[in-house]
Amino acid sequence: MSEKNSSKSLPLSFVEGHEKFLESDYAKNPALFADLASGQSPKVMWIGCVDSRVPAERILGAGLGQLFVLRNVANIVPPLAADEASVGSAIWFAVDALKVEHIIVCGHSNCGGVKALSQLGKASFDPMLSSWVEYAIPALEDFDGSSLEDLERANVVSQTEHLLEYPCVADAVAEGRLSIHSFYYEIGKGKLEQYDTEKKAWSYLARS
Ligand SMILES: [Zn+2]
Repeated sequence: MSEKNSSKSLPLSFVEGHEKFLESDYAKNPALFADLASGQSPKVMWIGCVDSRVPAERILGAGLGQLFVLRNVANIVPPLAADEASVGSAIWFAVDALKVEHIIVCGHSNCGGVKALSQLGKASFDPMLSSWVEYAIPALEDFDGSSLEDLERANVVSQTEHLLEYPCVADAVAEGRLSIHSFYYEIGKGKLEQYDTEKKAWSYLARS
C-alpha cells in the first residue's frame, strides 16, 4: 500500500464499542432488530447541529428507530426558496412519508457554525462554510455582536420559521398533526431549554 493511500485504524475503543453493542443491545433483543429491518415509524424528527457534543439520541434517551435525525452545521433549515434538496427531502420524508408528529430544531451553546455566521464578511473561512451559513442570515437581524448565545438562540427560532415555509410542514401544522419545537442545549450543563413562542421566553424542558 502506498503511503498516499495508507490509513490508520479506528481507535480501538470504537471497535470495542461495536462489539459491546452486538453483545448487549442486539443479543438482548434480536426481535427488535428484525422488526426495525421491516421499517421505521419514528414520531419525532430532530434537526440539530453536527457538533459531536450534541448527540440527539443520547440527550433524549431515544432508542433505535425512535428519532429521525438530520444534523448539519448550525442546525440550519434553508429558506424554501433556496431549493436545498438535502434538508428539503429529509423534511418531506419525515412529514409526508413517516408522518412524524413533532419536529425539534435544536441549537446549542459554543456553536462553531453560529460563530462563523456572526463573522460573515469579517473573517475568511472555507467558502462552502460561508455559503452554508448564509442561509441563516435572517437570524442576524437583531444581533448587535455582543452575545453569541443570543445569536444561537435567535438562530433556532429563525430556523423553525423557515420550517413553516415548507408546504408539507405548513399543511401538517394547520391540520394539527404536527408540532414544531425550538430547543437549545447547554453543553456545560447537559440541559435542554425550550422556547415558548407566545411568551417569547426560554425555560428548561420539564414535564407539563
Ligand atoms: Zn453547532
